[in-house]
Amino acid sequence: MMRLNVLRELRQPIGSVDEYEINEPSLNLDGVVLESLAATVTLLRTDRGLLVSVSATARLPEQCVRCLTPTASEVQVRFEEEYVPLVDAATGAPVRLAKDMDVFRVGPDFDLDLREALRQYILIDEPAKPLCRPECAGLCPGCGVDLNNTACRCPATADQRWSVLAGLMNDRQEGSD
Ligand SMILES: [Zn+2]
Ligand SMILES: [Zn+2]
Repeated sequence: MMRLNVLRELRQPIGSVDEYEINEPSLNLDGVVLESLAATVTLLRTDRGLLVSVSATARLPEQCVRCLTPTASEVQVRFEEEYVPLVDAATGAPVRLAKDMDVFRVGPDFDLDLREALRQYILIDEPAKPLCRPECAGLCPGCGVDLNNTACRCPATADQRWSVLAGLMNDRQEGSD
């Protein structure tokens, strides 16, 4: 699970380090689906909470933008975020922070939930235009066949006109995002 109970870590002295290995065959992060996630999570006790370093690899099931074949991108993310508990692990007193402090919080159950941070970093690193392979020939704009495995029978003249048009459309699509 991408949730770790960190009560023990929060009770350790500042500077203590713990490391976890996390493996998930499949994980749905609020709509972002990951497969074969492998993560190393390092927790460093700070004065306020835990500095969490994550190094993760996963497969992201997607669709080739040219031929629409299901494909998977390998993604690799590394990030560091500080997590500050809502409740002091030693005294049980609420931990208040300045409103402008932008950190993740550890809930009163001391479960550190890495899912939201992981989701955000995956979305940053996700390839914008996944391809099944770099030289994918895509679909024929005239007849729709997959040009990777079928010879197209469209008339050459029509084919040329279509490919010019398709090129324009692709340019427009590529320019719009
Ligand atoms: Zn493709
Ligand atoms: Zn064709």
